[in-house]
Amino acid sequence: MSVLQAAAGDGVGNPPALTEQEAMFRTTMEAAQVGIFVLQDQCFKYVNPYLTRLFGYSAEEMVGHMGPLDVVVPELHAFVIDQMQARAAGISGHHYEITAVRKDGSEFPAMVFGSPSVFDGRPASVGTLLDISWQKAAEQRIRELADYDVLTGLPNRRLLRERFVQLLAAAERDKTEIAVIFLDLDHFKRVNDSLGHSVGDELLVEVARRLDSVVRRIDTLARLGGDEFIFAMPGFHTAAAADVARRLIDVFSRPFEVAGHELTVTPSLGISIYPHDGQDLETLLKNADTAMYRAKDIGRNTFQFYATEMNTATLDRLLMESNLRRALAQNAQNEFVLQYQPLVNLRTGMVIGVEALIRWQHPELGTIMPDSFIHVAEETGLINPIGDWVLCEACRQAKAWCDEGLPSLVMAVNVAPVQFRQPGFIEMVAGALASSGLEASLLELELTERTVMHDADINLGTLSALHRMGVELSLDDFGTGYSSLAYLKRFPVGKLKIDRSFVNDLETDPDDWAIASTIVSMGRSLRMTVLAEGVETGEQLAQLRKMGCDMAQGYYFSRPTSAAGIAEILRVQPFMNR
Ligand code: C2E
Ligand code: MG
Ligand code: MG
Repeated sequence: MSVLQAAAGDGVGNPPALTEQEAMFRTTMEAAQVGIFVLQDQCFKYVNPYLTRLFGYSAEEMVGHMGPLDVVVPELHAFVIDQMQARAAGISGHHYEITAVRKDGSEFPAMVFGSPSVFDGRPASVGTLLDISWQKAAEQRIRELADYDVLTGLPNRRLLRERFVQLLAAAERDKTEIAVIFLDLDHFKRVNDSLGHSVGDELLVEVARRLDSVVRRIDTLARLGGDEFIFAMPGFHTAAAADVARRLIDVFSRPFEVAGHELTVTPSLGISIYPHDGQDLETLLKNADTAMYRAKDIGRNTFQFYATEMNTATLDRLLMESNLRRALAQNAQNEFVLQYQPLVNLRTGMVIGVEALIRWQHPELGTIMPDSFIHVAEETGLINPIGDWVLCEACRQAKAWCDEGLPSLVMAVNVAPVQFRQPGFIEMVAGALASSGLEASLLELELTERTVMHDADINLGTLSALHRMGVELSLDDFGTGYSSLAYLKRFPVGKLKIDRSFVNDLETDPDDWAIASTIVSMGRSLRMTVLAEGVETGEQLAQLRKMGCDMAQGYYFSRPTSAAGIAEILRVQPFMNR
């Protein structure tokens, strides 16, 4: 009897008489922490206790009755048969992995190694089998760590890149588009700073969960880190991308409940479209990021396309006109909104007024800036109803601030040339003041040189009438048009606004510096207030103060913001002593 036979007994549990060496061998087999088996004729001849425990069968059930095919998944039968035939032919094998099946039907991954042997003078094989569930789980975890963001469980940049390769190949083949949306939370840092990072983390998890509910299975939502999320959406053209962007913004309309706090956050989104805005992920991401910053610039909680013309382009002239008409008709739904930018007195550092700036929140194209639609509105005459709305809304808001007990602010409203020249403009202004109850001296109309110098004599009449009503007048974008000093002296204009193109290069361009300082001294000698537009840096501000400029407006103090934003700003002024 061979050692193996001795160890195996007769296979049905009757131990044979053992020599000392055989006993030692048997103990070893029983103690081994690896499954050991002998196979012959595709049937188990011996199984050690570890193997029976692993599979949940008894040795009696297995030996002589079962073979490897009974304990591996059907998909692997052909492979296992190959292996058994090779061993029987005396060919040694390698380690290989199988999915093993327990008696109760559950599966586990196992590593098997078999070597050819001879048993009773006939070919057999001896094998070992290891349960590798633990290693597999660890591998899976490593893969997850490499591909997924630990906090939210969303794909990370690496996995996004990997998936994007496939998306690109498909889009190229099918000539379809891919939308890449960059979403960044507005003021997320405030949450971290005021409530701590763990609350910030929980908020991100909640945000990820909600965002995930909006995307389709074929879309990839990834987190790049921080509060930046990316959507890669195949088969999306401009209008569809705008639609999703709007739904993503909607996701934030309900507050998030995190650690007992009700947190309201808003997102800013930028969209780039393959192939229009880039041929590879890096370019598309960079451009979506740029667009996202533009969305932040124009007031947050909105989206922008990278290709600015896409914010308006899908609207060609005619479409733009009918869209404007529709927006006007529906302004109950607030497609037009006003933002306000502080006007700061440079002597005191206090906000003494605001300029009302219109934005068009197009349902499909996101926020459209005035430079993109005002000219069409002017050419089609639609500027009149739009301008009327702006005037009434601005007066209403100014009065509302007064009623809230906020310090009186001058409300500056832009008036387009066509609007200024329309019959009944004076009555229109009087009507806006009357219906809002705003004091006339708190309204300032911004006109451009182009507006007032054209037919100056006729305009003088309108200007004088407005002036008699107590309304303030200012000349916008001053320095870009032509002004006759003679008229300037006769017009009842109280303020000159230095165009921001001169302020921009104040520090580097001596010509701009000369123009700005000339306007300041000219304004002073005509007893007009001079305001510098577009002040972005402390250095520009310092130069302007040195020139004796009275007022300023610009990103340095504040971007245009909502009415609520202005109320907040009034609480932190004066600006200059900060
Ligand atoms: P504007 O009257 O000269 O208004 C100032 C513009 O400069 C605004 O652009 C404002 O956002 C921008 N701005 C302010 N500070 C800075 C800064 O520090 N840096 C830079 N780069 N820009 C700054 P916005 O809001 O895009 O308006 C553009 C123009 O559209 C306005 O120029 C005005 O001419 C016209 N507009 C805006 N709202 C209305 C309106 O209700 N009616 C009419 N007719 N025109 C309007
Ligand atoms: Mg203006
Ligand atoms: Mg201006």
